[in-house]
Amino acid sequence: DETEVDAALTDGFQLVIDALKLNGIENLYCVPGIPISDLLRMAQGEGMRVISFRHEQNAGHAAAVAGFLTKKPGVCLTVSAPGFLNGLTALANATTNCFPMILISGSSEREIVDLQQGDYEEMDQLAIAKPLCKAAFRVLHAQDIGIAVARAIRAAVSGRPGGVYLDLPAKLFSQVMNAAEGAKSLVKVIDPAPDQLPAPSAVARALDVMKGAKRPLIILGKGAAYAQADEAVRELIEKSGIPFLQMSMAKGLLPDTHPQSAGAARSTVLKDSDVVLLVGARLNWLLSHGKGKSWGEPGSKKFIQIDIEPKEMDSNVEIVAPLVGDIGSCVSALTAGLGGDWTPPPSEWLETVNTKKEANIAKMAPKLMNNKSPMDFHGALGALRRIIKERPDAILVNEGANTLDLARGIIDMYQPRKRLDVGTWGVMGIGMGYAVAAAVETGKPVLAIEGDSAFGFSGMEVETVCRYNLPVCIVVFNNNGIYRGTDVNPTGGADPSPMVFVPDSRYDKMMEAFGGTGVHVTSPDELYRAVAEAMNSGKPTLINAAIDPAAGTESGNIGSLNPTSAVRKG
Ligand code: ADP
Ligand code: MG
Repeated sequence: DETEVDAALTDGFQLVIDALKLNGIENLYCVPGIPISDLLRMAQGEGMRVISFRHEQNAGHAAAVAGFLTKKPGVCLTVSAPGFLNGLTALANATTNCFPMILISGSSEREIVDLQQGDYEEMDQLAIAKPLCKAAFRVLHAQDIGIAVARAIRAAVSGRPGGVYLDLPAKLFSQVMNAAEGAKSLVKVIDPAPDQLPAPSAVARALDVMKGAKRPLIILGKGAAYAQADEAVRELIEKSGIPFLQMSMAKGLLPDTHPQSAGAARSTVLKDSDVVLLVGARLNWLLSHGKGKSWGEPGSKKFIQIDIEPKEMDSNVEIVAPLVGDIGSCVSALTAGLGGDWTPPPSEWLETVNTKKEANIAKMAPKLMNNKSPMDFHGALGALRRIIKERPDAILVNEGANTLDLARGIIDMYQPRKRLDVGTWGVMGIGMGYAVAAAVETGKPVLAIEGDSAFGFSGMEVETVCRYNLPVCIVVFNNNGIYRGTDVNPTGGADPSPMVFVPDSRYDKMMEAFGGTGVHVTSPDELYRAVAEAMNSGKPTLINAAIDPAAGTESGNIGSLNPTSAVRKG
């Protein structure tokens, strides 16, 4: 009879869901529409957590940071053409940051797209995605869904993690096949990110260089945070006694308050060290490419680098001891190789670092205690610093210019993978996507510290935060503009400067529109109280923190990246 026939069939919708679930994917980040709406309904019906956003870029950023937090690919689903393109920004950003993510996009019919006959949302999405991610696949037959999802997962998480694009034409979802054969076609990925052991000769070479160091330094990057080899990293640091620096998203891998942390003596250690061990950190612009003034005398430095990606070695300067492998294996091999005869770094070096560090911390301390109104960045961040100190397991999301640079330096982190920020591109717009995923993936309270400009890129997602009732507290540092709120139109015309916003905007009212809590504060004390209450209650909250419009500097710490012309000077 007919029901028996139906029961023996499966379809593309079902196989996509089955393949993801079989591989432990529990959450989907998406914006629904043709042709993926039913897929999302069904996924929710089958117990997956489906988080629906207002714009694909935010859903994509959420998936990317879910990947960073869990070491499993975060999955984002988008509609064809424009939805796909919106999600693609996040996929490219994930790839740049080495976060594992899969962007699944519905697409229009191949026959029409390839003949360019003008289909609904026509676009050759696979071709467009390819150069912007690690791997890109298209599935045309339902029986290939299982293998395609397996390839996507393995491509995203193995070796250097990154973004993968999976193109699913609309017709695929409705394809029907025998259910038993469908089940057999699914693949559970075994050992998706295999350990990669460093060669013993490479370990010996690195140990030789370490043992010859007089002023050694270890730099931990977000690759080290991602690797979840927290104990192995701690052991190497503590057994070696070497001072360490943590890159922005590595902060908290060891507490920033650790006695060996050289965070407050950054310029000194970069300039004066003689041997630098990089652990999951690239010598890109964020480390001045390993050369130039901030790195001291040319030729004064020997670099050892641990990275899973062989091509990363010698990317900017010579690496005298490349250590290719996964961070856990490489770091453990080094620790084992230190052996009983390891002598800690010379005490002059440790004293130099400590003296500098203590002086800088003492200089900063009074600035963080001010209760001025209107607030400056230091007063406001001093209050938020206390919040994190009292709640070390909360997740901090941070974007902006001054808001980012100053928060990174001022707010100490105590636990691994608690700081999520603008990453390798220094991109604006990650805020609400990262905040939502952080809450969904970890269940921990989230504090998002946002410049008013940065917040604007994803601000509509406050509705998403309210809809899912997530424990997210957003603090908008509102200084009326980009960098500052004081720019004027040089012609004296009616249009405002391109650098400013409506003065004294009340972003807190946006939150109230969706049933969340909105608070307007003007002093660090008020800010502290409002954030503490929000973090304790777990209620979606937006705090509009009025910052002096004149506070802030052009482009924060990276003003030197603005092009300047001799014609425009003086
Ligand atoms: P940061 O910006 O914090 O300096 P980067 O993103 O520049 O960090 O560097 C992270 C590096 O970590 C990348 O080169 C990446 O290949 C590497 N990486 C990521 N995961 C691992 C891992 N499990 N083992 C080894 N290296 C890794
Ligand atoms: Mg601003």
